Amino acid sequence: MSSNHAAVEQLRWQKFPVLDDGFVCLVDCMGDDAAVVQAARVSYGAGTKKVSDDRSLIRYLLRHRHTTPFEMAEVKFLVRVPMDCWRQWIRHRTANVNEYSTRYSVAIDSAQTTTPDEWRTQAANNRQGSGDPLTPEMGEAFTQTELEFQTAARKLYQERIDAGIAREQARKDLPLCTYTEAYWKIDLHNLLHFLALRMDSHAQWEIRQYATTLGEQIVKPLFPMVWEAFEDYRRQAMFLTRLDVEVIQSLQQQAAAGGVVPPFSEQFFLEHQHSEWKSLNRSRERDECLGKLRRLGIVKEAE
Ligand SMILES: Cc1cc2nc3c(=O)[nH]c(=O)nc-3n(C[C@H](O)[C@H](O)[C@H](O)COP(=O)(O)OP(=O)(O)OC[C@H]3O[C@@H](n4cnc5c(N)ncnc54)[C@H](O)[C@@H]3O)c2cc1C
Repeated sequence: MSSNHAAVEQLRWQKFPVLDDGFVCLVDCMGDDAAVVQAARVSYGAGTKKVSDDRSLIRYLLRHRHTTPFEMAEVKFLVRVPMDCWRQWIRHRTANVNEYSTRYSVAIDSAQTTTPDEWRTQAANNRQGSGDPLTPEMGEAFTQTELEFQTAARKLYQERIDAGIAREQARKDLPLCTYTEAYWKIDLHNLLHFLALRMDSHAQWEIRQYATTLGEQIVKPLFPMVWEAFEDYRRQAMFLTRLDVEVIQSLQQQAAAGGVVPPFSEQFFLEHQHSEWKSLNRSRERDECLGKLRRLGIVKEAE
């Protein structure tokens, strides 16, 4: 019996709510932390090592991106997601999917709605991101027009269905906020890849809610050692490029020569930034490097 048997039985079919009417739930799970270890140790035979060794091995595998042992475990979920969010989700090609058919059945009568305090402005410095929330007065108006639009779109759809129009055609004007449901099965390696991308702050807020719930409520209790390593070596880790390393070395040398001590000012960073960025007014790579150095406490936080 797998070590996560009790967790699987406790979690199976438990619907964790996401957004206003979505959910994620565990349907099935094959494998546990030990399955990863067993696959990695195929040449030595299972059951010969202590638990602490298992943990070390899992941490080593994840740290060094030895990925195939993580493909030995698989997890199957049932998810209910608005179609715009699903469109991002389905880009992860390594999963097996069966989605609710709106050709075969009447579309799920539920649309994701936005409360007045949930509307977000366009980010000023990131074309793909959101900025500050809208004022409550503006949000109120957009929530009202959203409701009117969603009601009208559903009414039109229902009229077509009632008139006998084929479901496959009647659906063409349903908005992307309409919920869909799908079974989604994926191996643990690709699941962690999905979670790393979609729990990240660069992912859209809506899909981040799904990924965070999947990860923390379901994957973590099913694979506690893998999850710990994932947090340490992926989620909370930092990737330094050659240029980042050269900047850190240069800052240290300049600081030693000038008697300056960290944390350095942003001005000091800009004076000693990488030569590749110096002539550029805007550089995303420079901004990313600055962010990393702030997180490391090498450069002062922005005032
Ligand atoms: C913040 C963010 C913004 C994004 N913005 C955009 C956007 O503007 N436009 C857009 O189109 N997409 C966008 N995407 C989607 C992104 O480009 C990927 O398609 C998506 O994240 C899936 O990643 P993946 O291909 O690594 O994952 P999966 O499809 O799950 O694949 C997992 C891994 O398997 C391997 N693999 C899978 N299929 C193949 C293959 N056919 N050939 C070789 N290797 C394969 C790769 O190593 C891949 O990393 C965005 C994603 C994120 C997270």
